[in-house]
Amino acid sequence: MGSKNHESVWQNCLKIIKDNVNQQSFKTWFEPIESVKLDEDILTIQVPSQFFYEWLEEHYVTLLRKTIKRELGNNARLEYRIIVENSSGNNSPFTIEYPNYNTGNNKNPEVAAPLVMGNTIKNPFVIPGLKKVNIESGLNANYNFDSFIEGDCNRLCRSAGYAVAQKPGGTAFNPLVLYGGVGLGKTHLAQAIGNEVKQHFPNKTVLYTNAERFTNQFIEGLKNNSVNDFVHFYQLIDVLIIDDIHFFAGKAKTQDIFFHIFNHLHQESKQIILTSDRPPRDLEGVEERLLSRFKWGLSADLQSPDFETRVAILEKKMYADGIELPKDVVEFVAYNITNNVRELEGALVSLLAQASLNKKQIDLDLAKKIVKNFVKNMSREVSIDFIQKAVCDYFEVPVDKLREKTRKRAIVQARQLSMYLSKNFTKNSLKSIGKHFGGRDHSTVIHSCQAIQNLMDTDSKFKESVDDLTKKIQLSIS
Ligand code: ADP
Ligand code: MG
Repeated sequence: MGSKNHESVWQNCLKIIKDNVNQQSFKTWFEPIESVKLDEDILTIQVPSQFFYEWLEEHYVTLLRKTIKRELGNNARLEYRIIVENSSGNNSPFTIEYPNYNTGNNKNPEVAAPLVMGNTIKNPFVIPGLKKVNIESGLNANYNFDSFIEGDCNRLCRSAGYAVAQKPGGTAFNPLVLYGGVGLGKTHLAQAIGNEVKQHFPNKTVLYTNAERFTNQFIEGLKNNSVNDFVHFYQLIDVLIIDDIHFFAGKAKTQDIFFHIFNHLHQESKQIILTSDRPPRDLEGVEERLLSRFKWGLSADLQSPDFETRVAILEKKMYADGIELPKDVVEFVAYNITNNVRELEGALVSLLAQASLNKKQIDLDLAKKIVKNFVKNMSREVSIDFIQKAVCDYFEVPVDKLREKTRKRAIVQARQLSMYLSKNFTKNSLKSIGKHFGGRDHSTVIHSCQAIQNLMDTDSKFKESVDDLTKKIQLSIS
């Protein structure tokens, strides 16, 4: 073997690897590797980080093993050298060496020390060009424990959240998963924990984000070849709050990267707080290994507030805004709007707006009018099927034609209008709307909505028909 050197061996390996992984993965995971030395049949390669090493071991171990054996024979072994940023602030990297094919338990404990951000790690929250030293928490200071009204509906979540905030990473509630329907206070409470931590522990790095932003940053990272920076950034956080993790459903790669970040933070006793619109066990499309991690901590649900809590929330809100309302008005609103806190607040805002707009006293009569409208517009949703039927009745075309390929003008228009109304009156995604129309794709739905908008802008008669239909649909909701 004397004639071989590490560079040529590694170059040969890369050639094989390149044929076996896609271009993006090759760029992300193999180009940054440098070969370091060859000792008999042990090849040492240098990787940029601990995370990088773990990723290679998890995703490419078989390929690496095969390739290296092909090049160096059956006794071949691979060793890793990992660059770790020095935590004392100067950035001279030191390296830690690893034998390969580690299974996780006998890792060099030194490597578990947090990686300190050198000046090379990009903060995905910072727009390039704008320099920012501190990590912004992303928190809204108004979402705190003071402004969060306690009731039976949220007591468990609130006390667990409060406990976590006093001792981040130091309670059994790690991760803390808060779940519940829309407008029940998940975001408020999750942020309250972050704000509370910041008050007691100014040195802790708190980050609030949501699963969608996290996913987009990860995708950006893939595009720019900066996944490593992305992961490093998240591994620096002491209290990580990710809102709306149901958004991760079906996104296997994002879950994969989140799994790594989660493990790292959890091992370091950093606090993780997650929110979801349903209990973890019902999160379809989320990997089992993530779900099982969530069970390590506490999952608690936020329920719809009872009457007393609704009154208390309204009163708190009025007090904060410096307004006073007659008791019977407050109670009327609280009595009639029961679904969630966001609607409750919305009704209060409408009430104030109407009163000041029309220079009217806020009394029970006005409240009755507003609440009636409010409930009508906000609460129930119509279905796509219903809209299709309403449109077809109106234009006297058969409903099943909407799902067929017919290009007849009357049908096309009814189809496009139904799509447009479905987009405006239901919470369905473009994709799912498309499905209801014989499996058309989301770009067709976008196109249809634009076509209808154009037509309404240019054809006042058509606009009248749409307004007419809209009224019919709205009436049916009430
Ligand atoms: P979610 O994230 O569950 O959809 P949010 O946290 O955004 O709900 O809450 C919706 C609105 O209701 C916010 O303005 C929030 O401040 C308010 N809210 C929810 N729960 C409470 C509560 N217990 N006390 C006071 N305000 C609340
Ligand atoms: Mg929310």
